[in-house]
Amino acid sequence: MLVPQAESSAGPLAGGGETGVLMRSFEWSRTPLGPVEGWPQSLRTIVSTCLNSRFPILVWWGPDLVMLYNDAYRDIVGSKHPHALGAPGREVWPEIWPIIGPMLDGVISRGEATWSENTLLRLVRRGFPEECYFTFSYSPIRDESGGIGGVFTAVTETTEQVLNARRLRILRELAAATGGAGDAEDVCQAAAEVLGTDAADAPYALVYLAEGDGARLAASVGIDPAGPLAPARLDPADTTWSAMDVLHVGASKKIDQVPAPGSGSALVLPILAQGENRATGVLVAGLSEYLVLDDPYRGFLGLVAGQIGSAIATARAFEDARRRAESLAELDRAKTAFFSNVSHEFRTPLTLLLGPLEELLRGEVKPGGERGAVALAHRNALRLLRLVNTLLDFSRIEAGRIQASYVPTDLATVTADLASTFRSSVERAGLRLRVECPPLREPVYVDREMWEKIVLNLLSNAFKFTLEGEIAVSLRVAGRSVELRVEDTGTGIPQHELSRVFERFHRVEGAKGRTQEGTGIGLSLLQELVRLHGGSVRVDSAPGKGSAFIVSVPLGTDHLPGDRVGAATTLASTGLGSAPFVEEASRWISDPTADVPPERARAAAGERRERVLVADDNADMRDYLRRLLAERWEVEAVADGAQALAAIRRRRPDVVLSDVMMPGLDGFGLVAALRADHDTASLPIVLLSARAGEEAQAEGRSSGADDYLVKPFSARDLVARVRANLDLGQARSQTIS
Ligand code: ADP
Repeated sequence: MLVPQAESSAGPLAGGGETGVLMRSFEWSRTPLGPVEGWPQSLRTIVSTCLNSRFPILVWWGPDLVMLYNDAYRDIVGSKHPHALGAPGREVWPEIWPIIGPMLDGVISRGEATWSENTLLRLVRRGFPEECYFTFSYSPIRDESGGIGGVFTAVTETTEQVLNARRLRILRELAAATGGAGDAEDVCQAAAEVLGTDAADAPYALVYLAEGDGARLAASVGIDPAGPLAPARLDPADTTWSAMDVLHVGASKKIDQVPAPGSGSALVLPILAQGENRATGVLVAGLSEYLVLDDPYRGFLGLVAGQIGSAIATARAFEDARRRAESLAELDRAKTAFFSNVSHEFRTPLTLLLGPLEELLRGEVKPGGERGAVALAHRNALRLLRLVNTLLDFSRIEAGRIQASYVPTDLATVTADLASTFRSSVERAGLRLRVECPPLREPVYVDREMWEKIVLNLLSNAFKFTLEGEIAVSLRVAGRSVELRVEDTGTGIPQHELSRVFERFHRVEGAKGRTQEGTGIGLSLLQELVRLHGGSVRVDSAPGKGSAFIVSVPLGTDHLPGDRVGAATTLASTGLGSAPFVEEASRWISDPTADVPPERARAAAGERRERVLVADDNADMRDYLRRLLAERWEVEAVADGAQALAAIRRRRPDVVLSDVMMPGLDGFGLVAALRADHDTASLPIVLLSARAGEEAQAEGRSSGADDYLVKPFSARDLVARVRANLDLGQARSQTIS
């Protein structure tokens, strides 16, 4: 047997350190081991050798497994030192005896050594059962008799490593789970889910997000979400968890004596998102009853809150970027819709301008018809001019280059005059026009041309969207403003569209009106014009009942830029007066007597009199088509899809020629209705559209139409297509019969 150096030089129990001193002076006679002199040599040797070791070493000796340990082991026993020294193991460690007792028994009875790695032993060494981990070995110590006198234990506490590894894993999982989350809400949910897997560090957790002057519960785990400790909303004065305090102050706070599961306390931490100048939320983390809130623990929870904050910042930045991209895409869509509408708006008048001109050039106009052809071309050239002027106004406003000239105006008279220019069209359409513009006490400063456009646009819209009832125009002083009201009993505007009708290019889908024509810029231009007068415009409307547009413009000149009052304008005027508006509106009136009876074609001897049904909401286009086709065939012309369907069911034509964009039932709807009906399923249909481009053509063909003609088209082309489709119809009927 080895005789340790220590014994020969320093007596029976040599060794430095506090425990060494204690061991030497200890009254061993009072312990089950008895005085040192009576100890077996092997025990004395081992004790002397280990006393100075830097590693924690413990010897259990004798039938009572009395504990002998060195200085390095003192941290492990904690507050149980010095009572633990020389005391039976079972008395020192009752809390872990069920685990280590059988292990020690095994070593003593079988003489086998054991090895345990990172084993959880909840020692009570600081007054509470603590989560701590140890790696240790038990080896038998033989005494002089050759039997096993005790157990040698080399032990290392690995609590720090185990906790660090666990926390690192949680932080990694947290980063992975919250990194790709969609919005702040998702981040909180994902974080709560990950924290739910770490009840050892956070038995429960709640995440509140700041909202208004309070906060809202975004996610929770390990706690009853309907219970009193998890209110869904925190008002500014709420004291639960002191969360509102933490939110405002931005520093964490420990809350004790919490009646929550698994913990008597919680740490409440601010969640800070980069780029925001105050806390964006609060993390309430339940604290483990088996751990003390030391720096690493606090640091870990701080990192959790930090990760949530940075994930929220990222999600928000991403959301902002997405929203920006979406609004750009929305603008892009609106512009595309606008361009296609504008090109549509141009193609119809262009057809009606080019068609008659070509006919005139070729000398194909019947004698006496020249004036009509020129008038048609002139009218449509004016319509183009009005469109171009509207676009010009719009781009001038966009570029901030519009020049207003505010002049004192007898607004009542001007407004009443403008309104009355619509009277004949309104009355011809079977509507009433009420104008109430009593004289005002003082002149109003307006730009005449702009005011004209404001009134005419509103009247033209009212007329377009009112099929029965009345249109009322009134002017009155309200406070220090003058208010223009244009009211109608028309189709109305759905509630959710009200705020959008003033948006650029916006049109209400499927609105019932006299025509489908329009670009969706009338009202947005009007709004800009009203703003240039320091005024505002709003709309009240109920679908099916009617709409009221109210324009309010301040009296006096204080609100106007001084240099534009009575100023001269240098830009070319874009005002055209009311004639083009009224002229255009009058062409929307579907005058049933004008369309029936169908024109009879002079059938050549022996030729079968074939019938063409024309459907188009533009009266000029209807007339033009009728005139072109009536030379050869019998033509019936109607103003929309529903009328076309009725006319076809009354008397079946040989071919249908229909515009695509019409109010109510449009061209595609008409094709579908005809194809669905057995009687008309094989009727040849030619669609006329102002929409060019391959996509539109493909759409036209896939709708079930037989042919698709894009405006502007030549008279010859039209006649040839109608001819070909009449032949097609004939061939079909022969096949069927
Ligand atoms: P446009 O008439 O050229 O389409 P506007 O900017 O003048 O463009 O009008 C935008 C939309 O607002 C119209 O397409 C229509 O749907 C709706 N609207 C405007 N005035 C009325 C009205 N008096 N009654 C019903 N709807 C209206």
